[in-house]
Amino acid sequence: MFRLPVCPHCKTVFHYRDVWKIKNKKTEKCYHCGKSFKVSRVGYLVLLLIVVLLSVVVNVMILSSMSNILSSIAPIIIFSLTVVVLALIFTPFFIIFKRINGR
Ligand SMILES: [Zn+2]
Repeated sequence: MFRLPVCPHCKTVFHYRDVWKIKNKKTEKCYHCGKSFKVSRVGYLVLLLIVVLLSVVVNVMILSSMSNILSSIAPIIIFSLTVVVLALIFTPFFIIFKRINGR
């Protein structure tokens, strides 16, 4: 289901650690074929949006199911941290490498 990004030129699959290093760059060169490609984070932004919406909904549900606000703080913190950590772990799977137009 989850796939790491591949070079759009030679289809080399990039390693998890390499994707981590280049995920904040705009363009990168393939270590295998040496050609440049665009690093697209669109998929990752969609993931973040879904994650944020989901955690807001779940936090509201936790809040409304607890009789007092103090007892709902711990589950909300635990849930939110888990969601953030999971989103970070899966970041490289939502990065896409695209061909630069005209090359
Ligand atoms: Zn390549």
